Amino acid sequence: MILFKRAIDITNHLVNLKEKGGLIGFVPTMGALHRGHLSLLNESKKMNTYTVCSIFVNPTQFNDTTDFNNYPSSLEKDIDHLEKAGCDIVFLPSVSEIYPDGLLHTKKYELGYIETVLEGQYRPGHFQGVCQVVHRLLSIIQADQLYLGQKDYQQCMVIKKLIELEHIQSRINICPTLRETDGLAMSSRNIRLTEPYRKQALKIAETLYFLKTNLTPGDINTLKQTAIKNLTKAGFKVDYLDIARASDLNIIDQWDGHTKTLALVAASIDNVRLIDNMLL
Ligand code: AMP
Repeated sequence: MILFKRAIDITNHLVNLKEKGGLIGFVPTMGALHRGHLSLLNESKKMNTYTVCSIFVNPTQFNDTTDFNNYPSSLEKDIDHLEKAGCDIVFLPSVSEIYPDGLLHTKKYELGYIETVLEGQYRPGHFQGVCQVVHRLLSIIQADQLYLGQKDYQQCMVIKKLIELEHIQSRINICPTLRETDGLAMSSRNIRLTEPYRKQALKIAETLYFLKTNLTPGDINTLKQTAIKNLTKAGFKVDYLDIARASDLNIIDQWDGHTKTLALVAASIDNVRLIDNMLL
């Protein structure tokens, strides 16, 4: 496994591999790696000659500095996990490698509706930051295939839009959410959950399963309200819990019994903000 810190070095290396016919799969992460991240890596390894993983905690996607400062980090362990999982190339850029012109003059993307709802509403500027980092990373890596987790469903849709807007050649692969055996979606933030909150956190997945089991055609407002009430009762501060059309994340209040829908939730417990979603 080769580690790169400088953009120019990894670009040159990858251009060389691509010239020899190598297919490049890319898994961008913010580190504190868990099996969910490694499942993306495995998918990439199946379909590409070389798999690149980046670890970069992107400052522009954090609208809350405390959240940024508290973001878990375990670089040595991460590198060890990546090596054992058979990653070929790791990219560990500094902020100045990703933002050579500084953090103040970043590009603005016309994302439209998708950045105004759900996460967009509660984390203003978050998806602009995601686009800034992913755009820059893709220009450095020039991946053939990009691997993203369904865990961040809205982020996947935002990156799809970015790829369209910027005519980027990478193809998106969305991989299923890996869960702990009790159902909790794996997340770097789970490390910050202490008992008994770790146990309570399970209620998020339970609520999504509740919605999946109880969704019936017609008005779905009562169902949503019951789910929010259950989470609140369990001690969560719910930012949002909603049901949306899977194709475009338009929020729905009525279900026709056919349209593919998704429940999405963001809620905090003991100041740890968790997100999850489930196709219904
Ligand atoms: P992050 O390091 O949280 O930015 O995540 C990096 C990538 O891993 C993103 O594409 C996430 O959607 C994906 N990811 C995070 N958690 C999971 C999970 N539990 N299962 C599958 N993919 C995940």
